[in-house]
Amino acid sequence: MRVTVWGEGFLDLDTLGERPEPLNYRGYVDRARELYPDDVHEAVARLLRERLGDGAEVRTSVLADPAAGLGPELLEATDVLVWWSHVKHHLVPDETVERVWQRVREGMGLIMLHAGIESKIFRRLMGTTCNSEGWRQSDDWEAIWTVSPGHPISEGVPARFVIPVEEVYCEFFDIPAPDELVFLSTFRGGEVFRSGCCWQRGNGRIFYFRPGHESYPTYHQPEVQQVLANSVRWANREAATTVDLSPFDGQHPDAAKAHELHDGWFRRLGAAGGGRAEVER
Ligand code: ZN
Repeated sequence: MRVTVWGEGFLDLDTLGERPEPLNYRGYVDRARELYPDDVHEAVARLLRERLGDGAEVRTSVLADPAAGLGPELLEATDVLVWWSHVKHHLVPDETVERVWQRVREGMGLIMLHAGIESKIFRRLMGTTCNSEGWRQSDDWEAIWTVSPGHPISEGVPARFVIPVEEVYCEFFDIPAPDELVFLSTFRGGEVFRSGCCWQRGNGRIFYFRPGHESYPTYHQPEVQQVLANSVRWANREAATTVDLSPFDGQHPDAAKAHELHDGWFRRLGAAGGGRAEVER
């Protein structure tokens, strides 16, 4: 399994661009540098290497790399892309977004972390604003509740666990209803948030995991690491990414009828030149 952890390069102040600095940006950078000296994406890559072992080849790339760190060759050689971005979403080129979108549809898995809900690619894949109704950084706890105990992403994860300090997000979280909801978060103020969500787009599996604000040590917490490793395994779709178009060989008593129908479909699809199939009535 080939995994790429992509980061915006949060600690790299030079690539912030023309945008006015977001509130507290420098404060976050100082704190993040203490917690994640090589930047957040490197910490995520390290924990995945430790947890996935020899079964995974984990590399990193960043926005400042050629082709925004997501060129065609790299994406082609990526089974699962893990995405961390927070303040540089707007600097990701549209053509890069298009390439990632295409690869997800082909079957590349995508793990979207924390503030990545504001990224262009996540919004494109979801078709909604993906906004959290509110947020605050008040050093409050986050309790994560497993609501799909049999799911591969919750394997080995406690039924509930607490992240002692995290940023707070709250519903309404403007996403399409997840295909599967694995985790739900509650916060001290009574807020709730769908914090572990699965979707499929084309052949690609997508998982969003909410925790991971850069000024908190969340990625050092074992339960969080377990969730991330599980999610990468789940999103890897090396197999079963193509539709089987081999001729029908059913043994139904009326197989001749099924053959006729089946061949008819493909003749029509072929005649349409790959466009819309004409349906005979
Ligand atoms: Zn945050």
